[in-house]
Amino acid sequence: MTITELGLPSLKPLTPGMPTDGPLVDTFGRAATDLRVSLTDRCNLRCTYCMPAEGLDWLPQEQLLRPEELTRLLRIAVTRLGITSVRFTGGEPLVAKHLEDVVAATATLRPRPEITLTTNGIGLDKRAAKLKRAGLDRINVSLDTVDAAHFAHITRRDRLADVLAGLRAAKDAGLSPVKVNAVLDPETGLNDAVELLQFCLEHGYQLRIIEQMPLDAGHQWQRGRAISADDVLATLQQHFTLTPDPAPRGSAPAELWQVDGRGTVGIIASVSHNFCAACDRTRLTADGQIRNCLFATEETDLRRLLRSGADDAALEQAWRTAMWAKAAGHGINDPDFVQPVRPMSAIGG
Ligand code: SAM
Ligand code: SF4
Repeated sequence: MTITELGLPSLKPLTPGMPTDGPLVDTFGRAATDLRVSLTDRCNLRCTYCMPAEGLDWLPQEQLLRPEELTRLLRIAVTRLGITSVRFTGGEPLVAKHLEDVVAATATLRPRPEITLTTNGIGLDKRAAKLKRAGLDRINVSLDTVDAAHFAHITRRDRLADVLAGLRAAKDAGLSPVKVNAVLDPETGLNDAVELLQFCLEHGYQLRIIEQMPLDAGHQWQRGRAISADDVLATLQQHFTLTPDPAPRGSAPAELWQVDGRGTVGIIASVSHNFCAACDRTRLTADGQIRNCLFATEETDLRRLLRSGADDAALEQAWRTAMWAKAAGHGINDPDFVQPVRPMSAIGG
């Protein structure tokens, strides 16, 4: 009996050449082993390059994956699709009350995946130790400046002290290495980068500076306005001695530099020198859609499949088919590039 006869939504037919087991591959031979899971599209900051001041129309509650639905998909990802690393993100994942429970459930999967979190750090001071006990391995805290006025301008909230407290708690909880993700403001960003690196070296955090991408809800991103990785590198080299890190880069997006023997800094040239050829990511949104790329224009609705009674094999096949269709690259620099409808906050960065 076919899935359609069972009254389940029709799946795309098996695609010629697509493996039905083994790694989660695409037609370019890349295997996705790193799953990004958005737990919510809601957030308590309003970073200008991400969300408008008034926020967004949040996804309705009934469209969000329920914890048991999410843990089922996580089990399929790890045990059937070869996912070895799970990163929880959002929106702001600390806004999701079930975060600790989902981390704990993920930690029971075998082979146990590495479990990481990307957060703005607000409220982390009270939850870092609990998250560590639940099974969280590492954390990335987003912080674009250590200047309180710049922070309030960029995030539209006066919460720098909360983020700094969160960072300290993450380090005290042993979530090491604590990484700091920065997207630079076009006006103040180069100065912010120098101060941020100084701050991170002093506290033992690993700084990662990321080029701003066209994923803002307001579609305000302009080619040439965002600070480029080359500009960041040139500015940091005026203040620090940077030498290329000898470790092989693999699929890591950051180009790593050693800084005066005191630590490292990573520079992520997502737009100007993309690393799509080595991409190993697959994404699950809070409303249960698979995205094969941040910049995908199509999604695969696993929530609908789940709620229509699909078995694990059908969900696995739908996920494989979604990834098989992954494009070679994000195409931001192509003349016909179109920004995806979903903003970063609703995809999960
Ligand atoms: N709220 C959490 C946070 O800020 O870390 C997690 C979600 S946020 C969307 C994940 C990461 O995406 C953050 O480091 C953020 O700075 C980054 N981000 C958001 N919008 C971006 C954009 N337009 N270009 C590049 N990075 C962006
Ligand atoms: Fe919120 Fe993160 Fe977007 Fe800032 S980047 S508005 S913290 S989701």
